[in-house]
Amino acid sequence: MIPFLDLKSIQMKQRTDLVAAMERVLDSGWYVLGQEVERFQSEYAAYCEADHCVGVANGLEALSLALRALDIGPGDEVIVPSNTYIATWLAVTHVGARCIPVEPIIETYNIDPALIEKAITPSTRAIMPVHLYGQAADLGAILPIARKHSLYVIEDAAQAHGASCNGKKIGAHGDVVAWSFYPGKNLGAIGDGGAITTNRAELAERITVLRNYGSQKKYHNMEIGYNSRLDELQAAFLRVKLEQLEADTARRRDIASIYLEQMSGLPVALPTVPAWAEPAWHLFVIRHENRDNLIKKLAGKGVGSMIHYPIPPHMQLAYAEMGYASGSFPISEVIHRDVLSLPIGPTMSASQVDQVIDAVRSCA
Ligand SMILES: *Cc1c(COP(=O)(O)O)cnc(C)c1O
Repeated sequence: MIPFLDLKSIQMKQRTDLVAAMERVLDSGWYVLGQEVERFQSEYAAYCEADHCVGVANGLEALSLALRALDIGPGDEVIVPSNTYIATWLAVTHVGARCIPVEPIIETYNIDPALIEKAITPSTRAIMPVHLYGQAADLGAILPIARKHSLYVIEDAAQAHGASCNGKKIGAHGDVVAWSFYPGKNLGAIGDGGAITTNRAELAERITVLRNYGSQKKYHNMEIGYNSRLDELQAAFLRVKLEQLEADTARRRDIASIYLEQMSGLPVALPTVPAWAEPAWHLFVIRHENRDNLIKKLAGKGVGSMIHYPIPPHMQLAYAEMGYASGSFPISEVIHRDVLSLPIGPTMSASQVDQVIDAVRSCA
């Protein structure tokens, strides 16, 4: 059986170093906001080609703290993809702003820049592109639209560690970039974690204050902050995992190129990669008109797959009060109906890759 994602095998590659990191933190006697977080922040900022990184508790709070730091709240509108994981929308809702969903381009699954301007109103404050499945949204088109209308760009990069756009790593193209280190992400902690990266010093400073009760100096609280900190322990684990990220991404890229070559001509829609994008291949997503049946048949051949995602945010009960009926965002709905994700973990062997290809060839 090839599991969709073999997280244990990914951790076991670095087991000795992870245990050493755990012991280092345990023995240090210092567990929250110390040297490990400081060092991880510098190392991850450098990796992302960004000037600043601030560790926070998770990806959702990275997004909501970014919005708070830009003073986006009640009465404001934020343009979000209709096709995304619900956390993108939740962050906007949590700060009291309103989500304005925009449909994706079906080939790339990412927000369609050609539809953004129509969604802008006098209340719009920001565009929140998501680099879905590890492939950059079209920042080359989105950033000029934002500049023209004086909007902020907050990137949801929870799936895009190591991805590039126009030859530059995701990390500081927009005003703020939000990251998740949930265990299943390409850079995953052994628990929850998140961060923001930015080139804007004042935003990094504001988020540093907001994540720690709105306090810069202990027991002096300058604003209504949160407790949203990255643990020392998770930061220490992430420093170990970061050492392996380039190699892991390279392996994901190899597998993706083999899949793309070997599955071309099969009756499935394969991922499309624009010339300016270098994906991190968090997920390898295909579309098939009889998706649920294909998943069963693949499972029968020992190949695990998953759906990212089965229900679009506008059709979730949580957003029922926005009043969107089925058919409101037809491209997103087709995507959610037809997509499935094939295994693409960095520890997959060549024979497992072949087995996935053979299974798709015989089942699709
Ligand atoms: C995982 C994810 C998040 C949320 O990250 P958490 O760390 O789980 O809070 C946000 N957006 C996208 C696109 C994600 O995939």
